[in-house]
Amino acid sequence: MIRLAIQKSGRLSDDSIKLIRECGISFLSASSKLKTEATNFPLEILFLRDDDIPGYVADGVADIGIVGQNVLVEEGLQQLSVKNLGFSKCRLSLAVSKGAEYGDITSLEGKSIATSYPNLLQEYLTSKGVQADIHTISGSVEIAPSIGLADAVCDIVSSGSTLISNGLREVETVFKSEAVLIANQNLDAEKNKLLKQLLFRMEAVQRAQK
Ligand code: ATP
Ligand code: ZN
Repeated sequence: MIRLAIQKSGRLSDDSIKLIRECGISFLSASSKLKTEATNFPLEILFLRDDDIPGYVADGVADIGIVGQNVLVEEGLQQLSVKNLGFSKCRLSLAVSKGAEYGDITSLEGKSIATSYPNLLQEYLTSKGVQADIHTISGSVEIAPSIGLADAVCDIVSSGSTLISNGLREVETVFKSEAVLIANQNLDAEKNKLLKQLLFRMEAVQRAQK
């Protein structure tokens, strides 16, 4: 039996479930359940907050998982990555108030930036030689400039409409992300075999979609 962790409810959930089903794996998924077993493959599925998935896989509480690269790399666990899955594509971007003056990244020198991704942001700023004051907040990052909490934000964007509706202008891409399959690095032989079987099926699904 191999144990897979996926997001319980959010932007990764539907496509994660769809991928498992497309691999020919059947299971019952009641929205109240935190755990379910597949009926035709030795797979158990855990439904978790996405932020918890890399840590659980690193610790072996789950054997494998599906999570956004943004969360995986922010948590410093990119070594768990096994395969890019091509869905939940988004980017982590810097944005400033619509009316703010902005030339290039050096415009943020000495400014305050609100984000839920302090590590990815710090790495980017360091690579550009810019020093800024990072405020880590866990949600509603987009309102920070309008309430005077920060000069800029660094947040997840897909279409950009949320930024625009909050009076913000996207100015830099910090990190590009998509969903990835991750795996614990010390799987036993049986679990490794099951992982290989799953990967084989996922690749067939991806080939069929091309
Ligand atoms: P949880 O309650 O599990 O902590 P969350 O609110 O942190 O959920 P979601 O908003 O559901 O997270 O996003 C989950 C992941 O989906 C993100 O980490 C990112 O990889 C991806 N994602 C986020 N926003 C978008 C988007 N607009 N379009 C596509 N993918 C996105
Ligand atoms: Zn989350």
